[in-house]
Amino acid sequence: MRRSITRPDMRLIKSALQAGLDFIFPPRCAGCGQPGAVWCSDCDRRLVRAGVAGCVRCGFPRVVSWRCLACELGRIRVRSFARYQPPLKQAILRLKYHPDQALADRMAAWLSTLIDSQSDPADLIVPVPLGDVRRKERGYNQVELIASALARDLNIPVEAQSLARVRETRSQVGLDPEERFGNIQQAFRADTRFVENRNILLLDDLLTSGATLLGCARALFNAGASSVLCLTVGRTIG
Ligand SMILES: [Zn+2]
Ligand SMILES: [Zn+2]
Repeated sequence: MRRSITRPDMRLIKSALQAGLDFIFPPRCAGCGQPGAVWCSDCDRRLVRAGVAGCVRCGFPRVVSWRCLACELGRIRVRSFARYQPPLKQAILRLKYHPDQALADRMAAWLSTLIDSQSDPADLIVPVPLGDVRRKERGYNQVELIASALARDLNIPVEAQSLARVRETRSQVGLDPEERFGNIQQAFRADTRFVENRNILLLDDLLTSGATLLGCARALFNAGASSVLCLTVGRTIG
């Protein structure tokens, strides 16, 4: 019997192909469109860092009432990298419509700077899931792209199956903040097998009202999570 041919290293082939593609179609900056790199130094300087906003204990936006809905759930912290405004806005929108892994890698590098000694060391990265309909339409979940890059950077496993959207939420458009929160709170279910007694790093691309993150965090705590650190790339409000 003939010896089988040694399997070529797919990673080497992929990176050689990518280098060739970059030569023919140089990457463009996701912020300003300038050719050269996926993110340019000009756009980097224009980023407005989000800082710590919202609840003084956890950083969750204060939009619904005087008390913090996130702190009521358990050990939670909410941190975002930068304000959702140009050029970050263009980058987040780009990843939503193009599965650009190099851009997701850059965002993961940003997010890793938000992890500090005050957070419980995470055991598991959980991306905020899309509904089945939206996932089918788009073909991928942009947050999973960031999650897999962050998992590699931090050497923490990622488990997309640990949190699911159990029902499609009706459109949030036209709802006031209270209605938005009510609409989404029961939309997620976490899997005890993955999250029980674990410190979870919950990941999303954008923090707006916080309703989605709160719904996810609630599901994670209901399934026995020890703590939840929510990281988002962009943030619209304080
Ligand atoms: Zn740029
Ligand atoms: Zn809080």
